[in-house]
Amino acid sequence: MNPKEAGKVYSTFFIIGGVFLIIGMFSSNDSALNFFSIIGFVLFAIGALICAIYYRCAKCNRSLYTRGRNPSFCPHCGNEIE
Ligand SMILES: [Zn+2]
Repeated sequence: MNPKEAGKVYSTFFIIGGVFLIIGMFSSNDSALNFFSIIGFVLFAIGALICAIYYRCAKCNRSLYTRGRNPSFCPHCGNEIE
């Protein structure tokens, strides 16, 4: 998985995980709340793991995470992200 793919994949996991967490928060049923919240949390954890492992600069190996924006260039060394 290259960093650009990882950026898309972890963003997707965060969005879907966020949707599940919101469903869990607004659900009136206690068991449904737990069910959706757990799925949301797991998706978030997978997204964070993908971000931590794969979303790195190929040149300086530092994390490319920039609070939601997926940069075209490394914010640390300026290397183009492929
Ligand atoms: Zn870099």
